[in-house]
Amino acid sequence: MHKNIWHPFTIIKDAAEPLKVKSGKGAYLTLEDGRQVLDCISSWWVNLHGHAHPDIAKAIYEQAQQLEHVIFAGFTHDPAEQLAELITDELPKKLNRVFFSDNGSTAVEVGMKVAYQYWKNLGQDRKTFICFEGAYHGDTLGAMSAGDRSTFTEVFKDWLFDVEVIPYPETWIGDTERAKKEDAVIDQLELLLDEHPEKYAGILMEPLVQGAGGMRMCSEEFLQKVHWSNRQFDTLLLFDEVMTGFGRTGDYFACKRAQVEPDIICLSKGITGGFMPLSVTVCSDEIYESFNSSDPIKTFWHGHSYTANPLGCAAGIASWKLLKENEATFKGMEAWHLEQFTKLEGHPRLEKFRVKGTIAAFDLKNDEETGYFNSVAKRIKEECVDQGLLLRPLGNVLYLMPPYCLTKPELEGIYEKIGELV
Ligand SMILES: *Cc1c(COP(=O)(O)O)cnc(C)c1O
Repeated sequence: MHKNIWHPFTIIKDAAEPLKVKSGKGAYLTLEDGRQVLDCISSWWVNLHGHAHPDIAKAIYEQAQQLEHVIFAGFTHDPAEQLAELITDELPKKLNRVFFSDNGSTAVEVGMKVAYQYWKNLGQDRKTFICFEGAYHGDTLGAMSAGDRSTFTEVFKDWLFDVEVIPYPETWIGDTERAKKEDAVIDQLELLLDEHPEKYAGILMEPLVQGAGGMRMCSEEFLQKVHWSNRQFDTLLLFDEVMTGFGRTGDYFACKRAQVEPDIICLSKGITGGFMPLSVTVCSDEIYESFNSSDPIKTFWHGHSYTANPLGCAAGIASWKLLKENEATFKGMEAWHLEQFTKLEGHPRLEKFRVKGTIAAFDLKNDEETGYFNSVAKRIKEECVDQGLLLRPLGNVLYLMPPYCLTKPELEGIYEKIGELV
């Protein structure tokens, strides 16, 4: 461990020496010792088109020679305007107002603050969010409050504000209880909304796939039911698509795949193809209009130094072009995963096979309790690197989330190795 570096999400005392990466190309990373590993998880779920993609590198280089940064209050620039247009053109119709920040946690934080203030602007006092078990929305205090309470948040629990928590009806291939689980959650949701309609600022969720919570997946129908309840009771629906955005679930956004129109959507990870820190919170016209006032108390007093950084926006535009060009890959990868599942299905140690677009996951059965600290994760991680694969199980959940440049034979190879390992 380098004497001056403090790594995130790392238990210092037991930590293995971090692997030093020298370079990346396509789906592969080259380590300092010369080994190559196939990146099965798109770095930290951020990479879309492969590492060091020349088109994005060039866009950043050219933008850096033109304008590297400018204060975004009172000033604007082409890259921000273009990226905002590209994203909103693809989002559901009413989502038209893009607020820039620079990471997923702040995208969610902004979404929550905007939702809260929206009601204030309308003269209502709605303080509480309805959130889901197993959720992860980031590590700032608001995002943490909305996320699942666990070892990760334990130390800070006195600082976190209360939210109302309902179950996430996770499902998998062959799950016969799906509709029953979903209906029970919807009943619970509607009971809350029915009892105290003026209490809730919004419903916040990761649509289709809960990422850090263990790649738990829900159905499109469930999102439609949530949307319906949300409309009936006139609250706001916030989608945290920090992970599911930009093709991950087999459509440009999970809300599009589910044909659901949230009021606020938070995007980050894939937005620049994994090159630059950037995020957006996109709000409906109606929400934006509630802030459209000369009254300072109705103004959104929030911003970050690197808001709408031109290099990030330029990377985002270049990445978006590649996304359009490679639409067939991210839309087709679900079928590849499903085909490969047949190789592993029936394995006595694997269960709950599930897939949404480019993301595939299954659980490893072992005798320990499930969850992040399940020791199987560490062993698999180490053995995989020896086999030339970068995999990072979430506890006993093994998942794949490859960059879209991965070829079908490469994916087949990954599944073969996993079959041998388990
Ligand atoms: C990663 C993630 C976040 C937090 O994003 P950061 O950029 O790590 O702050 C929020 N929500 C979801 C769904 C995520 O996957």
